[in-house]
Amino acid sequence: PNWEHRVRASARPRSKTGFTVLVTGAAGFVGTHVSLGLKRRGDGVLGLDNFNQYYDIGLKKARQGLLERSGIMVVEGDINDVVLLRKLFDAVAFTHVMHMAAQAGVRYAMQNSGSYVHSNIAGFVSLLEACKMANPQPSIVWASSSSVYGLNSKVPFSENDRTDQPASLYAATKKAGEEIAHTYNHIYGLSITGLRFFTVYGPWGRPDMAYFFFTKDILRGKEIKIFETSDHGSVARDFTYVDDVVKGCLAALDTAKKSTGSGGKKKGAAQLRIYNLGNTKPMPVGRLVSILEKLLKVKAKKKVIQMPRNGDVPFTHANITLAHTELGYKPTTDLEMGLKKFVKWYVSYYGSKKKKSSW
Ligand code: NAD
Repeated sequence: PNWEHRVRASARPRSKTGFTVLVTGAAGFVGTHVSLGLKRRGDGVLGLDNFNQYYDIGLKKARQGLLERSGIMVVEGDINDVVLLRKLFDAVAFTHVMHMAAQAGVRYAMQNSGSYVHSNIAGFVSLLEACKMANPQPSIVWASSSSVYGLNSKVPFSENDRTDQPASLYAATKKAGEEIAHTYNHIYGLSITGLRFFTVYGPWGRPDMAYFFFTKDILRGKEIKIFETSDHGSVARDFTYVDDVVKGCLAALDTAKKSTGSGGKKKGAAQLRIYNLGNTKPMPVGRLVSILEKLLKVKAKKKVIQMPRNGDVPFTHANITLAHTELGYKPTTDLEMGLKKFVKWYVSYYGSKKKKSSW
C-alpha cells in the first residue's frame, strides 16, 4: 500500500537524534502532543491509529492533519493487526515505541467491555510480540493510568501503593497491562516504562472528559452535573497539563535502557519502570468549574449531586518524587494557566457560539 512506500521514503532518514519512534494512538489526544514533541526535537516519528469511534472522528482527523503538516505520517491501522505491525517493523528500524493507543474512559465499558480487552490487553500483547520479534528490539514507553490505584489507596499515590482494587474495567485493563509488561520484560528482555498519567487536559483534548464537556455545556447554557461525595468531601482530581505530561514521556524515552532480548536475569538486563506523571495539586471539580466560568465569562448552570460518578475514583493525588528523581519530571503549569490554553484552543476550533456539533 501507499503508506509502505511513504514509510520507507520518509520515516527513518528524518531522525536527527538517532531515535526513531513508533507512536501508537497518534491521532489521540496525548499521542498527538507526544508525536509533535518528539518531532520538534528531531526524532523520526511514525504514527499508528485505528481512528476508533469512541469519540468524534472529525477531531482525530483534524489532529492527524496537524501531524501531517508537521511531517508526521499516521498510518491507519489496529495494533492487533499482526501483519501490519510486521510490515511496519520491517520497513522501519524503530528504536522506541511510544504506546499511547488504548480504549480510554471508564463509563464506556458498561456497554463496550470487549473494546477494552481488544485494545488494552490483546492489542498490548500484539504490540509487545512485534517488539520482541523486531530487529533491533525497541524500548517501549506506554501509558498506564492513575486509575490503577483504585478505591482503597491512601493519598498521595506512590508507585508502590496497592493496586488491587480497580474501580472500573478500564482500570483493570491498565493494571493487567502492567503485569503483561513485567512478563515481557523478564522473559523476553524488553525494556518497558509504564507512565501512570493523572487526568491529562489541554488543547486538542478528549470530548468525553469533564473539563471539555463542561466547557461545551457552559457555552451552550446547558446544565452541568457536579458529582460530590459526602465521605471524601469534594471530588478532586490531580489535573495535569498535557505539555507537562509530554515532557515526562520524552524524559522516560531518553532514560529508557535498550531492550536486550535476554531476559531480566542476565547481564545488561532490560529495565522495567513505573512512574506517576501527575501535578501533585488535586483540585475539586467545583474549582475547575469556577475557573472555566471566569475564562468563558459565562455563569454555569450547576447541579450538585452528592455521590461519586460511577467508575470514578473520588480523589486522585500523585506523589511524583520518583519521576522527579529519575526523570527530572517537574510539572510547571497550574490549572488556571492550562485551562486558559485549552479554552483558547476550544474557541478557535469550535467557536464560542452555541452551535451544534457531532459529539
Ligand atoms: P485518546 O482516546 O484520545 O487516544 C487513544 C488513541 O488510540 C485514539 O486515537 C484511538 O483511536 C487509538 N486506538 C485505540 N485503540 C486502538 C487500537 N486497537 N489500535 C490502534 N489505535 C487505537 O486517549 P488519550 O487521552 O490520548 O490517552 C492516551 C493514553 O493515555 C491511553 O493509553 C489512555 O488510557 C492513557 N491515559 C490517559 C489519561 C487522560 O487523562 N487523558 C489518563 C490516564 C491514562
